[in-house]
Amino acid sequence: NTFAEIDLGEALNQNIRRCKYVKPTPVQRHAIPISLAGRDLMACAQTGSGKTAAFCFPIISGIMSGQCVQRPPRMSRMAYPLALILSPTRELSCQIHEEARKFAYQTGVRVVVAYGGAPINQQLRELERGVDILVATPGRLVDLLERARLSLQMIRYLALDEADRMLDMGFEPQIRKIVQQMDMPPPGIRQTMLFSATFPKEIQRMASDFLANYIFLAV
Ligand code: AMP
Repeated sequence: NTFAEIDLGEALNQNIRRCKYVKPTPVQRHAIPISLAGRDLMACAQTGSGKTAAFCFPIISGIMSGQCVQRPPRMSRMAYPLALILSPTRELSCQIHEEARKFAYQTGVRVVVAYGGAPINQQLRELERGVDILVATPGRLVDLLERARLSLQMIRYLALDEADRMLDMGFEPQIRKIVQQMDMPPPGIRQTMLFSATFPKEIQRMASDFLANYIFLAV
């Protein structure tokens, strides 16, 4: 019932202590073991429930333990992230980026953020320096894909945060376009986590389209 009892890798466990997280919140207590076991997940979680850590910990832990496929050598200017976290707004993306960076401190896992409404050039330069986890808003992500500066072929973890808000904002076409680009590793190897505060029909449809044999979690 404490983070010390969950083996997430020494560096991540140390960062969790540094963040003064001792006990997992309910969504973390259930979601983290499900993700560590390799299962897809659809979780009902509100803001403030601790969902950021719930999807960041398994992603960072998985990348650190080297379960990810080898990426092509960095010859081109193309970036090949291993994990993608999609969120509806610039503010939320920046918050997730800030938290993920604390969790990934000294793990060697590099986190980059990309959002719309800001010049793209600096984001392109950050991507070019290497990226393991990319936190992004759907519109800017499609823009990056269209510029052929980003490949999603190596994505091993996909987290959709506040999926209901993304749909309300009209991002469904972009999200579908993004997911279509993830063809390697094969679907059974990629892990997807969908977080939403509500579960209208549209979200259930997204879950059946994007998740495989998933566990439904309501806390
Ligand atoms: P979130 O729902 O991910 O936005 O998290 C809400 C707030 O709770 C953030 O400020 C987190 O840093 C904090 N938090 C998340 N999980 C824990 C935990 N297990 N122990 C203490 N604080 C936490």
